[in-house]
Amino acid sequence: MNVLVVNAGSSSLKYQLFDTTAGVVRAKGLCERIGIDGKIKHTNLESGAVYETEIAMPNHTVATKIVIDALTSAEYGSVKSMDEIEAVGHRVVHGGAYFSESVLVTDEVMAKLELCRDLAPLHTPAHIMGIEGCTEAMPGTPQVLVFDTAFHTASMPEKAYVYPVSYDMYEKYAVRRYGAHGTSHRYVAGECIKLLGGKAEGTKIITCHLGNGSSISAVKDGKVIDTSMGFTPLAGIEMGTRCGDIDPAIVPYIMNKTGMTPDEVNNYMNKKCGFLGVSGISSDCRDVCAAAKEGNHRAQLALDIVVYEIQKFIGAYTVAMGGLDAIVFTAGIGENDSAMRENVCKGLEFMGVDFDAEKNANRYSSATEISKPTSKVKVFMIPTNEELVIAKDTEAIVKAL
Ligand code: ADP
Repeated sequence: MNVLVVNAGSSSLKYQLFDTTAGVVRAKGLCERIGIDGKIKHTNLESGAVYETEIAMPNHTVATKIVIDALTSAEYGSVKSMDEIEAVGHRVVHGGAYFSESVLVTDEVMAKLELCRDLAPLHTPAHIMGIEGCTEAMPGTPQVLVFDTAFHTASMPEKAYVYPVSYDMYEKYAVRRYGAHGTSHRYVAGECIKLLGGKAEGTKIITCHLGNGSSISAVKDGKVIDTSMGFTPLAGIEMGTRCGDIDPAIVPYIMNKTGMTPDEVNNYMNKKCGFLGVSGISSDCRDVCAAAKEGNHRAQLALDIVVYEIQKFIGAYTVAMGGLDAIVFTAGIGENDSAMRENVCKGLEFMGVDFDAEKNANRYSSATEISKPTSKVKVFMIPTNEELVIAKDTEAIVKAL
């Protein structure tokens, strides 16, 4: 089945055309600067043809039409007409408490998605425009929504998702833990279960998605029982520009001291903290690592903080699950930064982690065990593939129609 996977961000739209039967990506591309000016880079992975141009993209609906023109182009496209695309799968950042699994787009689903605007104000409007753009360009082609929150909200127990604020905040305003990166956690946990023997029951896995945004999940019997991101993706460990968990009293304190408004303090915690804020150098882990190597104390501190926080989550989630079979590293940092993986696993020997530093030091492009064969707790590097999950969910839902 030809499935178009669409990932509409606040000012960007990434896409991949999958042939799910052959299990290959036929084309991929990225629209950027939507709402500013607009630019597309499209690659036909079968012929190698690349199309790159600047073109006006006032909104996501227009961007979707430009993507469709690229996919059907005689010169660099992959299909003769959009009729050959049998389904569209959309990545959706926030499904609130309304969606705990992937769903087919219907009027009722769109009405519920509208209710998620408040929870992801930058992303939800982009998703809605992306869906509407596809509906206009491909009327009749089924569309499926795959939610970043669903893997978490489907199974987290109440004690992990209700915050100890007054209960009316949960009832009236939906204040609870939702988590994020769920599609990535689901993919790597699934791959890890295969590596552990294929049976989800009885497995206890901690998945560490470490990228520009980072989250850690406890996955027991193949289901999430807790995750580090919370009501929003600001929670959890230190990230590129996000502070992660801090004493909540710091927020009104710095507002009083600096005169920041609620919006300003929110922007500050999302954009000016984390690696960037602590190191004063960059939000990019590579820059921070390079500065630390040159002896920059604050860069080293930013790295020490994140390693310490990841270790604390591993400790807490091991207790929450009553044991641990495997730790998985994924995403930009988790897949590429061998020093980060080594530093996190150093000191975990007491809980049965026998890390293979030599094996870990190499670069790998596919799932690799980086603990010693005798290690009680396995450690894996598993490249994430959220698009594949979206394509497969879309295929399954559309085939069942
Ligand atoms: P996003 O959350 O934006 O999807 P990614 O998963 O692409 O982010 O991760 C981006 C992060 O990965 C950046 O901090 C970047 O420095 C880091 N990264 C990428 N490659 C390497 C590498 N070789 N060594 C260390 N960090 C890396």
